[in-house]
Amino acid sequence: MIGLEIHAQITALKSKLFCSCRGNYRDLRANSNICEICCGLPGSLPIINQRAIEFSTMTSIALGCKVPEKIMFYRKNYFYPDLPKNFQITQYNVYGISSIGIDGKYELDDAKQIRISRIQLEEDPGRIAYSEGGMNVRNSALIDYNRAGVALIEIVTEPDFTGPKEVRQFLNKLSLTLEHLGVCDTLLEGSVRCDVNVSMNGGNRVEIKNINSFKEVEKAINYEITRQSSVYNRNLKVEHETRHWDDKKKITFKARSKEEEHDYRYFPEPDIPIIVLGSDFVANLERQMPELPIQRFDRFISKYKLSEHTSNILINDKKLADFFESVLKLHFSPTEIANILVTDFKSLIEDDTESTDYLKNLKVKPEHIAELVKLIEDNKISRITAKDILVKIFESGKLPSEVVSSNNSYKIADEKTIMDAVQSVFDNEKSAVEDAKKNREAINFLLGKVMKFTNGRADPKIAMRIINSKLSDPEKQ
Ligand SMILES: [Zn+2]
Repeated sequence: MIGLEIHAQITALKSKLFCSCRGNYRDLRANSNICEICCGLPGSLPIINQRAIEFSTMTSIALGCKVPEKIMFYRKNYFYPDLPKNFQITQYNVYGISSIGIDGKYELDDAKQIRISRIQLEEDPGRIAYSEGGMNVRNSALIDYNRAGVALIEIVTEPDFTGPKEVRQFLNKLSLTLEHLGVCDTLLEGSVRCDVNVSMNGGNRVEIKNINSFKEVEKAINYEITRQSSVYNRNLKVEHETRHWDDKKKITFKARSKEEEHDYRYFPEPDIPIIVLGSDFVANLERQMPELPIQRFDRFISKYKLSEHTSNILINDKKLADFFESVLKLHFSPTEIANILVTDFKSLIEDDTESTDYLKNLKVKPEHIAELVKLIEDNKISRITAKDILVKIFESGKLPSEVVSSNNSYKIADEKTIMDAVQSVFDNEKSAVEDAKKNREAINFLLGKVMKFTNGRADPKIAMRIINSKLSDPEKQ
């Protein structure tokens, strides 16, 4: 049995959850993005970010959760160097008041449902930076509070997963949903983190903490299943414990026991009153909800007549799907454009998709693809040529028409030129010509030679017609 606790930053926010410090703390000088509120100085008062409530409500709706009419915040008390206030403002389900979302359901591709126990809005702690080699090398660590107070959405599932594959599928779908809601750019470093509970054969539950990317989750679970199996095989008992994931060594290791002794002394946050959302708030947001991946998938099939396969490739990469729709606005030819994007285009960007802004930094813009497709449709270039031109646009950022004329790659539809090309192929491939007379399938070999001879520029229909007429009339050979 596997359960997840996911933390996703609301990276869409300009400011932190309770103060006006910047929400994007990345690449800032350490401890330069802090104020009296996020550091919890005496006398400071938190002010809730309304957009954060809206984003977490939309996430709750998308994950099938109920959203209560009023919400409350709690203090979770613990002492740890990354927590400047010595408490974290979070949510807690007691006294009949729930967090921003409860009792949700989220469906996997095979229609299996994963229950969502709760979704809560809370603040991120700061970051501890250990020197290379970890704490053991030097007996000190550095702390950066720039992240402290950034808005986090915590999503807790019931232990409904039966294996790492289901977990991966769930996390992929969740990432897409968060991206489509505009809540979280999941590719940003540290924007999504995960804790995992794993128990086997009705035994004790082990919690794995500190998995800092969705990609590592599957590895951590696989490791833990192997570890727990080997404990059972030796007839020993799996301890109820917290373990950490070491993403360099790819192992889980037992947390120091002190870290497990929790008594958070939750109590209502006295500085933030109960917030009444009201039923209109939720109904309004429901009406304004952005299109979710599943709705987009259906639209791609019904409106653009794309195949399920092609739609899936596009939608599984939101930025690519957005790019596709920008090209459509310039030139409406869905099938042709989608084919170029999911094949040649995608293979050219494949190595780069790890970085968040890979499409923004590209020299190829929607205008380029629109023009390229027009050139194909106007029969000015062949599909083979289009592929080469795409590579050149990637390198230079020039418009397709410029590349085509400077490289002289327009399609050859001139009969005389193609006839000459066919003639020289016939002269050089005498035995293939003899074969082709008996075996019609060998004609394709000759056509391939003609295409090669013309650098893929000959109009294949015309070339084929000339080859056929030459073969059937010995006079012309
Ligand atoms: Zn602040």
